[in-house]
Amino acid sequence: MSVLIIAEHDNQQLNPATLHAVTAAAKLGEVHVLVAGSGAAAVADAVKQVAGVGKVLRAEAAHYAEGLAEELAPLVARLATDYRYIAATATAFGKNLLPRVAALLDAPQVSDLTEVVDGQTFVRPIYAGNAFETVQSDAEKLVLTVRATAFDAAAASGGNAEVLETEATPAQNLSRFVSRELTQSERPELTQAKIVVSGGRALGSAEKFNEVLTPLADVLGAAIGATRAAVDAEYAPNDAQVGQTGKVVAPQLYIAAGISGAIQHTAGMQDSKVIVAINKDPEAPIFNIADYGIVGDLFEVVPQLVGELKKV
Ligand code: FAD
Repeated sequence: MSVLIIAEHDNQQLNPATLHAVTAAAKLGEVHVLVAGSGAAAVADAVKQVAGVGKVLRAEAAHYAEGLAEELAPLVARLATDYRYIAATATAFGKNLLPRVAALLDAPQVSDLTEVVDGQTFVRPIYAGNAFETVQSDAEKLVLTVRATAFDAAAASGGNAEVLETEATPAQNLSRFVSRELTQSERPELTQAKIVVSGGRALGSAEKFNEVLTPLADVLGAAIGATRAAVDAEYAPNDAQVGQTGKVVAPQLYIAAGISGAIQHTAGMQDSKVIVAINKDPEAPIFNIADYGIVGDLFEVVPQLVGELKKV
């Protein structure tokens, strides 16, 4: 009844998102983790120390370097013969790879699960997080993606799993890696941040977005998020989008400035521990889920907040 988790990494470091999948998978059986990459020894080394990991499978090949789903899927499908469950975190990586694996295995996939009830029963959000459905499957093999915010991260140390080499599958050459543009930032990564400051359409321009929100994020050591409206208007980069078609976050504190609270946005942040909303419209739906609401003009409120926080 063991579970194979596909580790997400950049050949140097394990993406902490994988640690949440380990916690979910531990409820299903012994956890094995596949590290497929190119020169990814340091990642395998990190994974073997993760608490709760029983075994690390390491596959090395140049064509695994960029984590292309077309290259990884045949490897995962081959290894899957030994496992009942194949899992990954529901990040862009996991959401890209696992449907392809499910298709190769002709196995059902339960996506974005938020609870493991038992070995056949899982809870997952539907209707942009407005409802949760419980799904049951007695399929021989199940492919699972795990919502990171629903499970604590497994401890990165304390384990001592054995690392086994596994043979690489031949290159598929169905897709080709062209380039990657990474946002360089001193800020915490959005999905891992303890505090997120997010802005909406109300900010009005990229300049205002940065001018108003950056000082608040700086004083709080927060990551910066945005609504789709703000991203579409190019006030903020794509990878800052929070919501149904963006990232799902659940920080200790989420500050929503000039955000109306459309369900597609709240789907990505409503599990935040404390939500603070700043909006000049007292009827804005965001106030329905906010723990603290400030009715006011964000261009006045946010600088005042920064001023007060600097005194602390
Ligand atoms: P608006 O809804 O225009 O709200 C702006 C708010 O700012 C208003 O409440 C207004 O009162 C307030 N305001 C204006 N001026 C000020 C001021 N000076 N001070 C204080 N408050 C002020 N959206 C997402 O965010 N993430 C998603 O992942 C996402 N996915 C989507 C997927 C689909 C299929 C669809 C159809 C939509 C999706 N959307 C998503 C879009 C979503 O429906 C909303 O359009 C979007 O979230 C609205 O963004 P907003 O709150 O910034 O803008």
